[in-house]
Amino acid sequence: MSETIVIAETRDGELHPVTAELVSAANNLGDSTTIVVPSTNDAAANSASSIAGVSKVIACVGDCFAAYDAASWAEAIDSCAPSGVIVCAASQNGKDLASRLAARRSISVVQDVVGIDGGTLTQPIYSGKAMQNLSLNGDAAISVRANTFAAAGDGGSAEVSVMNQSADVATAVREMIAKASERLDVAEADIIISGGRGMQDPANFANLERLADTLGAAVGASRAAVDTWEEIPHSMQVGQTGKTVNPSLYIAVGISGAIQHLAGMRTSKYIVAINKDPEAPIFKHADYGIVSTWEDALPVLEAELKALLG
Ligand SMILES: Cc1cc2nc3c(=O)[nH]c(=O)nc-3n(C[C@H](O)[C@H](O)[C@H](O)COP(=O)(O)OP(=O)(O)OC[C@H]3O[C@@H](n4cnc5c(N)ncnc54)[C@H](O)[C@@H]3O)c2cc1C
Repeated sequence: MSETIVIAETRDGELHPVTAELVSAANNLGDSTTIVVPSTNDAAANSASSIAGVSKVIACVGDCFAAYDAASWAEAIDSCAPSGVIVCAASQNGKDLASRLAARRSISVVQDVVGIDGGTLTQPIYSGKAMQNLSLNGDAAISVRANTFAAAGDGGSAEVSVMNQSADVATAVREMIAKASERLDVAEADIIISGGRGMQDPANFANLERLADTLGAAVGASRAAVDTWEEIPHSMQVGQTGKTVNPSLYIAVGISGAIQHLAGMRTSKYIVAINKDPEAPIFKHADYGIVSTWEDALPVLEAELKALLG
């Protein structure tokens, strides 16, 4: 197997913790691991150098990294990253980058990897109903789901080299689609509280956001909520045609539990459902179900959590 190259996730110029999980995943491929850190400066790359198990860090510095733009990011990273197996996070941007880098290099792409054993990759298929194993026999670009691999520890001291792309790369889109990205992304969060059509009004999602702030959680939504209310962005949608999530705790509020929603969240370690209908299908998959309106249940939950967390 050739060299493994982790494309670091960054947020607002800082290294995102999922990068340490990507290093663990990359180390399972069995070779030396290089991290490429896309950023407008080299600060995040210096943080990456302390991750254990990393042999080299490349700060891929460019103006284009001020805001996500798929074409200019892929062009800049492609020119910084050595050849080998590329490992991205299975975030919205990470999957996009994996595909674009694979296309630029004419190599295979494997998305949503949840297992790596030597050169064998495991990914879910048919909305998670089955797993498929694939053998790597050359370079490829893969995306790895968050919360799948334990994060690599600290203690590394990899050498950092800087490749400044600003002169070469077109600085394209600068405007952030801010609303969704201001909050924690559901695809990476360890706790998610999602609302469905049972929330009755998009303004009522403020109740979920307050609870999310108490818990340090991300807020998600069902497709019915996203389709019904333009205030609820598609980036929040969990499910077959939304994001696949794998948190430790998933709280579904006013969500019926349709098969397409379950496809995106049923691997959550602990599922709590709040629904006024005791026959709602979500209860068959919940570790803990509260048969109640959210209007009654959420204030109690919030008060209890505040008491618990001090
Ligand atoms: C091809 C395809 C792809 C799809 N992809 C997705 C996807 O990715 N994600 C997804 O979510 N769906 C997806 N769907 C849609 C899916 O089939 C369901 O329609 C959708 O998940 C229903 O959303 P919901 O549970 O919020 O709404 P509903 O089915 O309307 O359920 C609302 C629930 O809220 C409860 N409720 C009402 N009022 C209250 C209250 N005051 N307090 C507590 N509970 C209350 C009700 O009892 C009900 O169970 C897809 C469908 C298709 C055909």
